[in-house]
Amino acid sequence: MPSKRSRWNTSHRHDRLPPDWQRIRAEVKARANGQCQAKHHAKGCNGIGTDCDHIIPGDDNSLDNLQWLSSACHKAKTARETAARNSWYRKTRLHPVEKNPGSIPPGVGGTSPGTVD
Ligand SMILES: [Zn+2]
Repeated sequence: MPSKRSRWNTSHRHDRLPPDWQRIRAEVKARANGQCQAKHHAKGCNGIGTDCDHIIPGDDNSLDNLQWLSSACHKAKTARETAARNSWYRKTRLHPVEKNPGSIPPGVGGTSPGTVD
């Protein structure tokens, strides 16, 4: 029996790119003159763009939502986005109700009024 598992299963990214992605990408690169367009350049950025990046992550492949980045700046931006997403998840996740550590069950501590006389 052949395996149903495809090696593309772990990559969602390429499925979402449009068929004319190469043309769009070339246009973004030309618009940027091949230079990295990051607002704040990452430490390892040499100013030369190599990656086409979605400014707002998602499926919007319009030129307005695309910029040309160096791989260093692209990586830094992706890391920032991942961190932001993680902190959002942390904030929205319900915290379990903690028992008040200061409350001592009755009878513990040796001064229970019930044992006097
Ligand atoms: Zn850069």
